[in-house]
Amino acid sequence: GGSAQDSLYFQSYADVSIHEEMLADTVRTDTYRRAIFRCAAALAGKAVLDVGAGTGVLSVFCAQAGARRVYAVEASSIAEQAARIVRQNRVEDRVQVIRGTVESVELPERVDVIVSEWMGYALLHESMLNSVITARDRWLKPGGLILPERAELFVAPISDLVAEERLNFWDTVKGQYGVDMSCMAEFARSCVLNGEIAVHPVTVEDVLSHPCRFAQLDLRTVTLEELKRVSGAFCCQCFGSSSLNALCVWFTVTFPAEDMPPLVLSTSPFKAETHWKQAVLYLDEPVDVRQDTKVEGNISMYPSEKSSRYVCIHVDYTVGEHKQKSKTFSIPDGHS
Ligand code: SAH
Repeated sequence: GGSAQDSLYFQSYADVSIHEEMLADTVRTDTYRRAIFRCAAALAGKAVLDVGAGTGVLSVFCAQAGARRVYAVEASSIAEQAARIVRQNRVEDRVQVIRGTVESVELPERVDVIVSEWMGYALLHESMLNSVITARDRWLKPGGLILPERAELFVAPISDLVAEERLNFWDTVKGQYGVDMSCMAEFARSCVLNGEIAVHPVTVEDVLSHPCRFAQLDLRTVTLEELKRVSGAFCCQCFGSSSLNALCVWFTVTFPAEDMPPLVLSTSPFKAETHWKQAVLYLDEPVDVRQDTKVEGNISMYPSEKSSRYVCIHVDYTVGEHKQKSKTFSIPDGHS
């Protein structure tokens, strides 16, 4: 913490827009709410640490669910609004808003429960999970509860028409204006397929196989060392004939609940859309696939060298009998 990068990062949370987007995401916020209320027995009379409290919404849920004391730690100036929201909801006797980074904060006691909404695009963009793990190692009692407790990463090959249409666009200019721009095709291809992680909603019809889980993280045990590289193998079998031009990556997080089936917050293209949408990785050229064509390989995620909050995704992949290829992707600048 403490770098210029961090201060830019926390500034992005000082504005109303990002909190509006998160609270308007009812899949996200309702799943946390249900998960917290389902843990009411574990929260009763207990101390909670909310890592990155933002508007304080999760802290208020915990107080309403019966927590004795909630430490709402928030580094950005949105903490001032969180304090007002806590008072407006009359839980100021139980929720203490603390402005500062969770890495530097001093709490009067260890906590029984940590709650945090730390997930970024492709799960690991923003690297906020490191802060949750640091907080766990410092402040969580042995055997304490972490909400959510588990994260899983998935991949599936897709046939993304958005990119195909953008690339074909230059062939249509002549018909519209009488100026032939078809020679732009190659330049457009080099810009569109330049290794950026595109974030947009993927249509179910474009998904070419069942999803494959390639990594999972147990938040009770994962270490900062392990987070330097999150990777795993995948193998998908295509449903039928299509033109594969991208891989789609998404995540789920899971909340524990005694005696009840676990609650899952999913950002799958097969589930209701969330503000995370899906991460799309465009391959250099489309490949024809048929029923049962195997798309397999390895995916590795790690912080970018130029900015550790930016995630990079390296993919080694083979489609059917074609030879293995590799490509590295990153989130474009200015996409926080
Ligand atoms: N819990 C809120 C906000 C989630 S967004 C909600 O669910 O709506 C994550 C928040 O964590 C942001 O407000 C960001 O400023 C804060 N944050 C990220 N890293 C932090 C750190 N190391 N210490 C304190 N706050 C942090």
